[in-house]
Parts: sequence; structure tokens; C-alpha cells
Amino acid sequence: MAETETCPLHFPSLEELSEVLKSGLQKNYAEVRVSVVDCPDLTHKPFGFPVKGLCGKPRIADVGGVPYLVPTARLDKIYNINTVAKKIELPGAYFLGAGAASHRSMGLNAELIFSVQAESTTTPAVNGNYVAHINPADGGCLLEKYSDKYSDCDFGLLSNVYASEGKPGKVLEVNVKKRTGEDNFVSCMKKTLLEHYGDRSVGMGGTFILQEGKAKLHIMPPEFSACPLNNDEDVNRWLKFFEMRAPLICQSVFVSHDPGLDLRLEHTHCFSHHGEGGHYHTDTTPETVQYLGYFHPAEFVYRIDKPSVTHTVGRD
Ligand code: ZN
Repeated sequence: MAETETCPLHFPSLEELSEVLKSGLQKNYAEVRVSVVDCPDLTHKPFGFPVKGLCGKPRIADVGGVPYLVPTARLDKIYNINTVAKKIELPGAYFLGAGAASHRSMGLNAELIFSVQAESTTTPAVNGNYVAHINPADGGCLLEKYSDKYSDCDFGLLSNVYASEGKPGKVLEVNVKKRTGEDNFVSCMKKTLLEHYGDRSVGMGGTFILQEGKAKLHIMPPEFSACPLNNDEDVNRWLKFFEMRAPLICQSVFVSHDPGLDLRLEHTHCFSHHGEGGHYHTDTTPETVQYLGYFHPAEFVYRIDKPSVTHTVGRD
């Protein structure tokens, strides 16, 4: 894996973030509650994570990037979560977030939904990742637990992850109902942080449940595009879009402002217990939508294997 750059992030208190996010969310949702709470035990349903919480040495990693997928896929770009854990100086870290599965392991292209604890010097990795890909039988979504078929902790091309020691502790609980604005749940929080903090970059990660309503998600086709994908229209013609239903459990990472690392500023992937999952765009049911999420700010962002040639295509 190529070089790693590190940048400290602005790290406000949870109490301050709670007030800032509340004011921004109130412009976009009819009902908003934001508070500082003890993180619920994330080993319990519907989460089923390998760790209890999101706390302890919180950091964000942006690995690879969309330029390794479009215009032309770089099949050589394979990464490993245990290696990433060492690169971010947190062996044994718990990771959640969004990325691409390893084409080498799976033999096809798939959305990767991260929930994995890396190995430490004393404990093996616990891989709770999910993968969503296109069902060859009917063109629909096929959601699987990665460890049901594969024993590695690899991924490919690009990923945005929030890492921590996975400990219990205080987090932000965000509960909103009925969307009145245009932005999706994550964009709304990201824009609110940008408006308040400007070029002081704030990064956050967490998990949220789309409790009621439906959402627009995409899944990459199993095969990489035979012809180059040169713009957003090409990418959107290539991707497969779905409307999926609640409850969806969404693993999310966002940064308010790019400190010059060519970051993807927002990335959310969802899984469920009814066979649906993929890359989250937005809910499609503003009248009835309800979200409940748990989030924590990160102290650092690590940029790993940043593409040397970049563009802004396909970052939605
Ligand atoms: Zn994605």
C-alpha cells in the first residue's frame, strides 16, 4: 500500500456539536432531537456489530478513491483492513463505513458495508462486513455476510471508514422525522458543520437506522464497465438503482471540509436483515421518513494511497 498522509481534524465537544447539528437539522426536518447519550450496545440487534461502541481514539481513513474505479477500473488496487489499522496506528480498531469489495476475492464487483474489527497482537479479526451485489438470477439485490463465503479482510479500489477502539462511551444521538428540505440526512449534517465551522474540518462517523420509509440506493454491476466512464451521466447509466425499504442500517462517514487531501466528503452504505443493501443516496419518502443515528467526531483523518491523478466524477 502506498503512502499515508495524516491531518488533525477540528474536534468540538459533543455538547457543542449537539447544538450545532440541531439548528441545521431543524431547517430540514419537521421533528429533530439531538442529545449526548451513552452509546447503545451495538452488539445487539439491529446492529449486531462485533464491538459495543464507537469510542476510543476516533479517526477517519480515506483509502484509494473513485479515480481507481472510473474512468477505468484498477483491478490491482486491493487493500486489507488489518494493514489499514496499522497505517492509522490503531491495530485492533473497529471499522464502519462504505467502500468497494475486493474483486480478487469475490470475482465480481460489489458494494462493501463495513463492520469489522481488525486483528490485534492478541486477537484475530472479526469480520462482520456485508456485501451487496446484483443477483445474476433476477437482476435484484443480493446481500450477504462477507464471512459466509470469504475468510480474508480485503477490499478494493476505495473506502471511507470511521475507526475507533469500539468502546462504550458518550456519542451523539440524532433522531429526525419528516424531511422538509432537499438534502439527504448525511449531507444535511455535513453542510451544517461546514456552515458553522468553515475551513476548520470536522469529520464524523457513525451508524443510523432508516426506521420508516424508503430510500434510493445503488449497487455497482458485477462487471466493470467495458468502455470508460467519463462523466456522472456515464456512471449513473452504469450503476443499478433501487428503492429499498426500512429498516436499513447505514454505516456513514462524512467530513465537513477537505483539508487538501482529495477526500470523498460523504459516503454511506446500508445493510438490512431483509436482504437489501447498497450505497445510500437519499430517502424517497420525505413525508414518512424517520432516522435514528449514533455518531462521534474523529480526531484525525488519514489519507491512504491517494490517486495521483484525480477528478470529481462519481462522488455522489
Ligand atoms: Zn458507495
